[in-house]
Amino acid sequence: MDRTKVDQIIHEVVAKYFRKPLIVAGNWKMNMTVREGLDFLEKLGSTEGNVLIFPPYTTLAVLAPEMKKRGILYGPQNFHYEDSGAFTGEISIPMIRELGCSFLLAGHSERRGYYNETDEALGKKVAKGIRSGFQVMLCIGESLEERRSGQWQRKLTEQIVLDLRKLEKEELDSILIAYEPIWAIGTGVSASLEEINETHSFLKMTMREMFGRDLPLLYGGSVNEKNAQEIGSCPYVDGFLIGGASLNPEKFRKIIEVSRGV
Ligand code: PEP
Repeated sequence: MDRTKVDQIIHEVVAKYFRKPLIVAGNWKMNMTVREGLDFLEKLGSTEGNVLIFPPYTTLAVLAPEMKKRGILYGPQNFHYEDSGAFTGEISIPMIRELGCSFLLAGHSERRGYYNETDEALGKKVAKGIRSGFQVMLCIGESLEERRSGQWQRKLTEQIVLDLRKLEKEELDSILIAYEPIWAIGTGVSASLEEINETHSFLKMTMREMFGRDLPLLYGGSVNEKNAQEIGSCPYVDGFLIGGASLNPEKFRKIIEVSRGV
């Protein structure tokens, strides 16, 4: 039997018998006023440590103690690699730390695409975040054109190499990767199970080759309360990063229930 097949069987057995609850992360993007956020938390109720929310800054500042009370982990959707200075519109690690955040989101495709966030800047951000004691969720993903032209493996590998290039081996303990195909974000149509399986097994193997170990790997792209069960059952999926469905407390709650049962 070839090495890939053996690897896959081992992973499937481990996933089946030793799996932790899946991580459920919500990216609220530029949605949720403070009042809407408080209402959301009221309806969501308490959680058990595998739930994470990235609200917009203003909402984050007010909701932090409320999320803490409910066992929700939280952080900003973006941050700067300098501690302070003339960077209008940016937010720094000391400001984030003051709010009791433990996670940082980095490299979302909307930031890469609309705000020209480069792998150069991301390398610095990721290193800064980790060395400041945070867990960093790094988003990677390919465009539809890259998927169709067979360039997706090159693109994803390149993002991992460039964005994590400044880290020492032990610093990888604080990294989670969110694979988000750009063409599945906000479209209502997730990648197919075949595509998710193929891509996640490729990424897990690539990480093992590069770093000699696995990193937690989430899937994002139109995850909702209806498809979470089957996507979460893919052996290489360790959780979800969710946009649209994370804005609705009933849908988000259902996905959390799924995350504890697969
Ligand atoms: C996202 O933006 O990270 C995302 C996955 O969005 P959606 O769930 O709406 O596709």
